[in-house]
Amino acid sequence: MSEYEPLLKDDLSCWKCDRSFPNMPKLKSHLQEEFDKLSDQEKAKEERKRKRADSLTHASSPVDKDNSRPDKLARESGGSSNNST
Ligand SMILES: [Zn+2]
Repeated sequence: MSEYEPLLKDDLSCWKCDRSFPNMPKLKSHLQEEFDKLSDQEKAKEERKRKRADSLTHASSPVDKDNSRPDKLARESGGSSNNST
């Protein structure tokens, strides 16, 4: 019994910050906290990435091309109808 007792105790420690805990429930709740922190960081990273990509697509949207097309069409159709009357 005394042989694997130290092993068990060694198991009750956080893999991240190396803190040891007196019992399993405490370690579990701590590990849950660590996991929450980690996933929060991951989420923040993803959001930052998405925001960057979003602003990039906004900046490169071709507004000039879209503006010149309807103008040309209106001028052509208007001129031809005026001529035939
Ligand atoms: Zn920890």
